[in-house]
Amino acid sequence: MGITKQMECGECGSKDPITLHNLWYRGIYSQLCTACVLAHHAASFCPICFDAYEDTKLPPPHLRVMCLRCPAVAHISCVYSLPTSSSSSATRYHCPQCSIPNFTFFDLNASDVQNGNLITKDLAKQFVAAAKIALISMNKAAVIARENAEKRASEAVMARKRAKEALDRVAFLMLKEAEEDSRSSSNS
Ligand SMILES: [Zn+2]
Ligand SMILES: [Zn+2]
Ligand SMILES: [Zn+2]
Repeated sequence: MGITKQMECGECGSKDPITLHNLWYRGIYSQLCTACVLAHHAASFCPICFDAYEDTKLPPPHLRVMCLRCPAVAHISCVYSLPTSSSSSATRYHCPQCSIPNFTFFDLNASDVQNGNLITKDLAKQFVAAAKIALISMNKAAVIARENAEKRASEAVMARKRAKEALDRVAFLMLKEAEEDSRSSSNS
């Protein structure tokens, strides 16, 4: 994991440095673009308002709606606020990834982006959600690293104790052997 590694998304290869996040992903430190962070952490944020769930704690069951096809979880209030709420009722909810053909998060080619604002409010929210998800993953990685370090430290203490015991035992045996040698040589 070199710091000199090329800046690009580990999933899609995007090289836009502005949208890249550092995160702990699939057990290694990775760089992913905003779109890929969101696409691969569907259960970590609401796909409608783009609020990231703190510490990956989902909203309580009566306030959330799960996508029928993927792990995505939306606020029930957000689902009901959609203009197309008749077709995406809360009981048969499909998230944008599962219901919109060719959907991508953080879509810089979307018409409202092309028509003016470079970063629309939605895109800004998506970026913040991805940044939060990345931060949460790094915090988790830090906890794991600390636990591993503590485990390694206690393992080292145990290993040192065992080595000391082995050494003591060797010293004891050598001493005993030497005594027996001197005794047998004095007897002869
Ligand atoms: Zn990507
Ligand atoms: Zn929401
Ligand atoms: Zn879905």
